[in-house]
Amino acid sequence: MGNPKAFLNIPRQEAGYRPIHERITDFSQVEQTLNSNDRKLQASRCMDCGVAFCHWACPLGNKPPEFQDALFKSKWQEAYNILTQTNDFPEFTGRICPALCEKSCVLKLAIDSPVTIRENEAAIAEAAFREGYVHPAQPERNGHKIAVIGAGPAGLSAACRLNAKGYEVTVFDRRPMPGGLLRYGIPNFKLPKEVIDRRIKVLEAEGIHFEMGMEVNPEQLPVGFDAYCLCTGTPTARDLSIPGRDLKGIYFALDMLSQQNRILDGESFAKDELVNAKGKRVLVIGGGDTGSDCIGTSIRQGAVCVTQIEIMPQPPVSHNPATPWPQWPVVMKTTSSHEEGCTRRS
Ligand SMILES: Cc1cc2nc3c(=O)[nH]c(=O)nc-3n(C[C@H](O)[C@H](O)[C@H](O)COP(=O)(O)OP(=O)(O)OC[C@H]3O[C@@H](n4cnc5c(N)ncnc54)[C@H](O)[C@@H]3O)c2cc1C
Ligand code: SF4
Repeated sequence: MGNPKAFLNIPRQEAGYRPIHERITDFSQVEQTLNSNDRKLQASRCMDCGVAFCHWACPLGNKPPEFQDALFKSKWQEAYNILTQTNDFPEFTGRICPALCEKSCVLKLAIDSPVTIRENEAAIAEAAFREGYVHPAQPERNGHKIAVIGAGPAGLSAACRLNAKGYEVTVFDRRPMPGGLLRYGIPNFKLPKEVIDRRIKVLEAEGIHFEMGMEVNPEQLPVGFDAYCLCTGTPTARDLSIPGRDLKGIYFALDMLSQQNRILDGESFAKDELVNAKGKRVLVIGGGDTGSDCIGTSIRQGAVCVTQIEIMPQPPVSHNPATPWPQWPVVMKTTSSHEEGCTRRS
């Protein structure tokens, strides 16, 4: 812990988003970055708590106090090394993780102003790629072969870890490109696809093979492997059996989001296949993050107006006594897409 009083003197500073009038005209990343000096100041706010609740809350078991300290001391490479002990792809989580760590940060409890752990993570990962110290691992082979089915983040992470242990790994996916929902679900304005491509190049250089466009039948797994790791995600959408469901103009979120990402990647679709909100009054059913992504996408496509409805009652805006710290707080969340203009109803 480099600066023990920083949390008293330095306020939380988020990098924020690009201005709304500018960002709704494109699908580029909305979140901005701080300069490296401000980033270090943000890292210095970490109090290195005796019991690091951020570490407890992180599903990956990341060690935020350790990498904040390295970052504060300008040891960017050391920060990256600490981060990648537990996190294979900090450039993904640094952009799109809901940051459970920040909600359980002691500074969240004390002054409602946690350390900017997620943004710091993204900054560390970007510095690593920029400065050229993301080196493909060259593990000694152990003679065993493993097939990973599914190239979403779960499959990529399994492949990365198994490969590092010396297994010869082949990843199969029915889609043309790896990334799963990171590529075919999450909009580019949250996660630019170059960020995935850049990591895939590293994984390939480490010796991981990718067999894309291969639908694998779980009853008939590819031959020649010693073990199989199934990482096929949850591809079936949850439907609503309500009157009017069969009317025209009703789509699953991924019909729209996936198609938009594919169009941005250069694919084209026939007019009758297009799912596009241009000139439409859009109703988004579901108040979660996927719904929010549909709002941002509809606005960029040129919707006349967007309304989002949610079946659950509206939670409190800031503190919810039903989910006290250090739990994940069930509170009203306003995303960058909500800020871009939509009506919300519960
Ligand atoms: C719109 C949207 C926005 C999201 N935003 C966020 C966010 O901001 N932050 C966050 O943390 N999470 C977010 N998520 C959730 C996140 O994307 C998922 O939790 C994550 O992608 C799950 O990873 P996975 O690898 O288990 O599955 P997936 O990403 O679904 O990957 C599974 C892969 O398996 C392949 N596959 C399936 N069956 C077969 C088969 N038989 N043969 C070959 N290949 C097969 C699929 O093609 C796919 O590529 C979002 C999800 C959606 C839909
Ligand atoms: S941003 Fe997500 S992945 Fe990163 S430390 Fe926090 S909870 Fe863990």
